[in-house]
Amino acid sequence: MSTNCPTCGEEYDALGIHLTHSDKCNPEISDRKIEILRGILMGDGWVSSSGRAIQAEWANKKYPQYISKELGWVSGDVKERPDRNGIYQLNTISYDQIETTFSKWYKNGEKIWDTSYDLTNEAMRHLYACDGSLKVREGRKSAATIGCANERDRIKRVIEWIDKSGFPRPTSHISNYGVELYFSTDDTPKLLNMFDPVNGYEYKWDL
Ligand SMILES: [Zn+2]
Repeated sequence: MSTNCPTCGEEYDALGIHLTHSDKCNPEISDRKIEILRGILMGDGWVSSSGRAIQAEWANKKYPQYISKELGWVSGDVKERPDRNGIYQLNTISYDQIETTFSKWYKNGEKIWDTSYDLTNEAMRHLYACDGSLKVREGRKSAATIGCANERDRIKRVIEWIDKSGFPRPTSHISNYGVELYFSTDDTPKLLNMFDPVNGYEYKWDL
C-alpha cells in the first residue's frame, strides 16, 4: 500500500525515504500522534535499531489496524508475522522527528519510560490498552493494573509522575511477573472514564 505525502500530495511506496531526501517536504507529526506513539512505546512498542521508527506487535489485529488509521501518513501497513500466526506488527515510517522525540528512551539497552513530560490521557490510554488489565477484587469490583516490569527500580518516581499528571494515584504491587501499578477499585472507574476504549481491547474498559 502506498501513502500520500501530506505536504506535496504525491504517492509513495516508501514515504520515509521521500521525506528523508526531500528539501521541501518536512511535515510535522501532530501532538496527538506523538502521544499515541508515546503510549505504545511505554507499552508493547520499541524503537527500531536505526532509532528512527517505532515498532510494535500484538496478538490482536483490530488494535494495530485502528492505530494505523489514527497515525495516518506516519504509519506503515499492519502485517501478520510470517513466522508467528496471529501476531500482527506495525511499523511507523523512519523519520527525523521520531528519532529526536524518542532518543532518550534507552539506557544500557533497556527501555525506560521518559518521565520528563507530563503523562497525557492519550498516552495513558494506549499504555493501558497495551499493558493494562482489569482484575476482579473485593467482591465483584474491578481494579485496573498496568504492568511495568522495566520500571521496577524507579517505581516511586513513576507513581509520583502519574499522580502529578492528574491521574488517580496508583500503588505498586510486586508479583512473579514483575512490577504492576495497581489502581484501587474506587479509582478504577475514575481512571477509565478519563479516556475512551480503543478498538480491539474494549473488554479492558468493561467494568
Ligand atoms: Zn512530499
